[in-house]
Amino acid sequence: MSPHVPSKDYAAHYRSLWTEIAPELERVFHEENPIMGASVDAFEREFADYLGAQHVIGVGSGTDALILALRCLGIGPGDEVLTAANTFAATLTAILSVGARPVLVEPDPESWTIDPARVEAAITERTKAVIPVHLYGRLCDMSRLVPMCAEHGLPIIEDAAQAHGARAERTAGTFGKFGCFSFHPSKNLGAFGDGGAIATDDAEASQRLRELRNLGKRGKHEFVHVASNSKLDTLQAAVLRIKLRHLDAWNAQRVAHATTYYSELSDLPELQLPSPTVAGAHVFHLFAIHLDQRDALRAHLASHDVRGGLHYPTPPHLQPMAADLGYVSGDFPIAEASARRQLSLPIAPELSTDQIRFACGRIRDFFSR
Ligand SMILES: *Cc1c(COP(=O)(O)O)cnc(C)c1O
Repeated sequence: MSPHVPSKDYAAHYRSLWTEIAPELERVFHEENPIMGASVDAFEREFADYLGAQHVIGVGSGTDALILALRCLGIGPGDEVLTAANTFAATLTAILSVGARPVLVEPDPESWTIDPARVEAAITERTKAVIPVHLYGRLCDMSRLVPMCAEHGLPIIEDAAQAHGARAERTAGTFGKFGCFSFHPSKNLGAFGDGGAIATDDAEASQRLRELRNLGKRGKHEFVHVASNSKLDTLQAAVLRIKLRHLDAWNAQRVAHATTYYSELSDLPELQLPSPTVAGAHVFHLFAIHLDQRDALRAHLASHDVRGGLHYPTPPHLQPMAADLGYVSGDFPIAEASARRQLSLPIAPELSTDQIRFACGRIRDFFSR
């Protein structure tokens, strides 16, 4: 039995899609190549159209999307890459994987996305790229970041792993040189397994990325780069094609759940709810609240079978993998406070309004209101 209010319910999600997915999987098994089948091409085209990008390159994961975008720019040892101090660890993993140095920048404590003024202050002559992370599904302040990075000649690689379909002047993943997506099952657009993609308007870069995801191959028998093997699977592409048609409706359901949380919880002074932004610019991959009594509230919710998540309890600069960077506790007080105070409330689109209301009721009991 899954909890009364789980953070997500894959079984319910796929039950609702099964009549679409089952015949398509059967067709793909009978008609397509297991590797780079026609579904991969079709999904790349459809996702590019959805985003308003010229090219999409399907890869093995969101982490690989970031690594390949960095490699495509020739970023490596001696280079610095700026990113948010409160991101998911994989953003750092990608920068470290190409041998570059992640230089972390505090988030804004209202939006929890990277603070553009602090990005500008952190630029040195070694800085080679900026990776803004549309954390929790909310667009970063791109109207400030894009012109500022252009002025400094710095390419932007968007980590849009949590923000499929978030929009302001453009769609998440199309503001920068590259937009990197994850299709991990938990994301707003998720496969039944790992997957990822890179969006770009640069035809030459898209060609190089197609080589870099496929053992550095150009044509059938020429290997021009030492590169990984990280392609999007045909089957995952087939699942993603079906799910892409539902993405906007699912994002709208997430926004509807967020609206329920705002209306039921806004009067609780103990809680910092996500700060408002323009419609469409937050797709609520997570509904992240901040509060002092985070652990006690989370335990109270768990006792009523309501699952709250932590994103993320240890900031990346304090992870063992980052030890060589020399960061210590206290270096990023905003990100560290977020790690102690952040709680993700259930918001998956397959949850019902009653389940969200039930979670709100248990939060109100906790504060005895
Ligand atoms: C999920 C995620 C990634 C990594 O994606 P994978 O597909 O799991 O490799 C990177 N950055 C952020 C912000 C993420 O949420």
